[in-house]
Amino acid sequence: YASKRSNSGYVVYDTALEAHAKQNLSLMAELRHAVEHQELKLFYQPKVDLRSNTIAEVEALIRWQHPKRGIIPPDQFIPFAESTGFIATITEWVINEALRQRHQWEQMRLSLSISINISARDLLNPRLPQIFEQAMQRYQASADWITLEITESAIMTDPQSALEVLNHLHQSGFRMSIDDFGTGYSSLAYLKKLPVSELKIDKSFITDMENNHDDEVIVRSTIDLGHNMGLHVIAEGVENQATWDALRDMGCDSIQGYFVSRPLAADVLETWLQSSHWKFKAQHHD
Ligand code: C2E
Ligand code: MG
Ligand code: MG
Ligand code: MG
Repeated sequence: YASKRSNSGYVVYDTALEAHAKQNLSLMAELRHAVEHQELKLFYQPKVDLRSNTIAEVEALIRWQHPKRGIIPPDQFIPFAESTGFIATITEWVINEALRQRHQWEQMRLSLSISINISARDLLNPRLPQIFEQAMQRYQASADWITLEITESAIMTDPQSALEVLNHLHQSGFRMSIDDFGTGYSSLAYLKKLPVSELKIDKSFITDMENNHDDEVIVRSTIDLGHNMGLHVIAEGVENQATWDALRDMGCDSIQGYFVSRPLAADVLETWLQSSHWKFKAQHHD
């Protein structure tokens, strides 16, 4: 029977699986190597407050500077890291690096809050509070300088335990934002219970809202919903002036997107913030 099976498709499938497993093993080894050899890097994307036209916060977004393959975006290794549990190591690195950078900016008299993306799996890591505490002590940061971005789908994977962890983080003083809002099927009953302070409308509704009436209606309703619940509302994926104007007219609190700036390396961000270039875009509205 076994030999019969070995002539069937199973073997092909097994071989493919094996190759896949080997690939994953080497990806895992490479990721470990990346953490140990400083190949991971954080870029920072500014968020503009639409009322004051100022930038008081940036989002940390990870990149992998691979010595042979160049810059690898997070979508190509974060899901893998999440599925293997290696995300815990990456998140610990991200937290430390983001707080180190914020501390360095503070020493340069550049006062910026920072937002950090947290995975569903991180929420189940019992060491997460301790990792934050140690990093905050090391870099003299307090929780009110830190926003945690957690995707709506991460919360909805296991709403009951997410709620517990979120309550805990909230008590520690972190601001919490629901990332990619509108894509994760939250029930409003849960939304009401979550100790979050911000909704971040997913870019899939924003990018084309100027041409797509449905998107525009969704965005407008989400802003109203957020405000009625006492939440701050931010839009990601703003790519042009018209979208910026429309969001401001709808009462959206903040925006983020390529029109303002792509995610930048820390030193590039510093120069960019000093240049008046982005302020011209903002002042266009005054
Ligand atoms: P996200 O947190 O929702 O981040 C928004 C993504 O949209 C970022 O992609 C950003 O570069 C991109 N983006 C920003 N403005 C625009 C725009 O105007 N137009 C378009 N088309 N895209 C825009 P990125 O950096 O490739 O990150 C992708 C995702 O990877 C993030 O989505 C987040 O879920 C995850 N990620 C990034 N860094 C980390 C991290 O440090 N830890 C974890 N756990 N996840 C991360
Ligand atoms: Mg985010
Ligand atoms: Mg998002
Ligand atoms: Mg996303």
